[in-house]
Amino acid sequence: MEKDCLFCKIANGQTETEFIYEDDKMVVFHDIKPHAPVHVLLVPKRHIRSINDLTDDDGALISDLFMLAKEIAKTVGVAESGYKLLFNVEKGGGQVIFHIHLHLIGGWKR
Ligand SMILES: [Zn+2]
Repeated sequence: MEKDCLFCKIANGQTETEFIYEDDKMVVFHDIKPHAPVHVLLVPKRHIRSINDLTDDDGALISDLFMLAKEIAKTVGVAESGYKLLFNVEKGGGQVIFHIHLHLIGGWKR
């Protein structure tokens, strides 16, 4: 856990954040500033700053994130209508919280 990292605090249950899903490795919760009708964040509990900081040992973690996203899409009701999965990487890539997370975004009326 990184001191002063918001997502470490959330993952450790130190905030009021309501989880859509939690297991020993991940937490999933709604983005507090949603960019779409459905905007959830999938966050590994282990602190990794960004995609740039992944090591060869993190392959399974990234795979787990995408497999979980597939299930969460069903939970939040966008599996059929469609959604985006997105990593923002560092400031120029729009990353705001420097603890790796996968955005699941959808729910638009088309
Ligand atoms: Zn963190």
